[in-house]
Amino acid sequence: MSHATTTRQKVLVFRELPLAQLARLQAAHEVTVANPRAGEAQRAAFEAALPEADGLIGSSYPIDDALLARAPRLRVISSISVGVDNYALAALAARGILLCHTPGVLTETTADTIFALIMATSRRLVELSQLVREGRWTKNIGEDLFGRDVHGKTLGILGFGRIGQALARRAALGFGMPVLYTARRPLDLAAQAPELQGHARHAPLDEVLAQADIVAVTLPLSDATRGLLGAREFARMKPGAVFVNGARGAIVQEDALLAALDSGHLAAAGLDVFATEPLPLDSPLRTHPRVTPLPHIGSATIETRLAMAELATTNLLAALAGQTPPAVYRGAAAG
Ligand code: NAP
Repeated sequence: MSHATTTRQKVLVFRELPLAQLARLQAAHEVTVANPRAGEAQRAAFEAALPEADGLIGSSYPIDDALLARAPRLRVISSISVGVDNYALAALAARGILLCHTPGVLTETTADTIFALIMATSRRLVELSQLVREGRWTKNIGEDLFGRDVHGKTLGILGFGRIGQALARRAALGFGMPVLYTARRPLDLAAQAPELQGHARHAPLDEVLAQADIVAVTLPLSDATRGLLGAREFARMKPGAVFVNGARGAIVQEDALLAALDSGHLAAAGLDVFATEPLPLDSPLRTHPRVTPLPHIGSATIETRLAMAELATTNLLAALAGQTPPAVYRGAAAG
C-alpha cells in the first residue's frame, strides 16, 4: 500500500457540496455523501456512515450529543457556516474534536441581505410589488401605502462582530444613519473599525432598543442570546419601529414578536431566520401582512456559497492531514 492510500480517511458529507470541492475531498479520502434531511434513504446512509467517519462536512443539521455518541472515530467537523449553534460545543471540547467554520467569506453578502430586508420592510417593497403583480395598481397609491425613509434613521445593531460592522458601514457611510450597537465589550473603533468612528456608539441593550428606528440582529445564537428578545424588549422599541433578524430565529421569542406586530407597536419585521426552519406552513409569520419572510438566504449567492464550500473543504483537508486549518472555531474557549 502506498503512503497516500494508508492515509486515506473516511469523510461524511452531510450537505451537498459543489463538484469541485467534492473532487478535492475524493482525491484524498473515502467520501460518502448523505444528507440526513433529504429523505429516509439518505438518512439511513448517513447513519450507516457515521460510526466510521473521521471527518464530517456540512451544515444545517444538529450535531448533538446523541449523534456524536454514534461517531466514535470522529476527529474533525467542518461546518459550511459561520454560526456554530448546531453543534454540541461542550461534547466536542470534551472529546477533542476540532470544529472549523467559515467566517469572513460570507460577511459582506450577509450584510447585503440584512440591508435588503431593512429596505424591503421600510419601503414595503414586497407588498407593493405584489400589488402590481396582482393587477391592483389601478390608481396612484395613497398615503396608506407609503413606506418610511431609511436614510438618516437611527439603526440599532445587536451584536457587533464581522456582520454587524459590515452592516454598520452600509448604514452609516452609505445611508447617513447613526448607529447604536450592543456588544459585551465596546469596540475600540480607532483600532478595529476607524471608518465607523463618529458614526457608531456602544450602548446597553435597553438604550439601543429605545432609541433606534430600526433594530437589526447580528448576534450568534448561544445560551446567552436564546430568547433574548421577548415582550419586554419589543415593548421598549419605539412605536412604529422596524425589526430585522438576519442571525438566528431562536434569538427571538416569535410569539412576542407577533404580538408586537399585531398590536401595531412595530411597523414591520424582516426575517431571514426562524426558530424552526423551513418555516412551518401553519406559522402566522409566513403570511403576516407586516412580515417580510425570507428562506434563510443570508449567504446564499453563487459566489459566497462557493467560497464557503471551498473554505470548509480546505479546513477539513488540513485537519485530516494533521495541519492547522485556516478557520478553526475558537469561540468556545473564549467562553
Ligand atoms: P462574529 O464576528 O462572531 O460576531 C458576533 C458578535 O456578537 C461579536 O461581536 C460578539 O462579541 C457578539 N456577541 C456574542 N455574544 C453576545 C452577547 N451575549 N451579547 C452581546 N454581544 C454578543 O460573527 P459574525 O460572522 O458576525 O456572524 C454572526 C452570526 O450571524 C452568526 O453566528 C450566525 O448565526 C449569523 N449568520 C446568519 C446568516 C444567515 O444566513 N442569515 C449568515 C451568516 C451568519 P463578543 O463575543 O466580544 O461579545
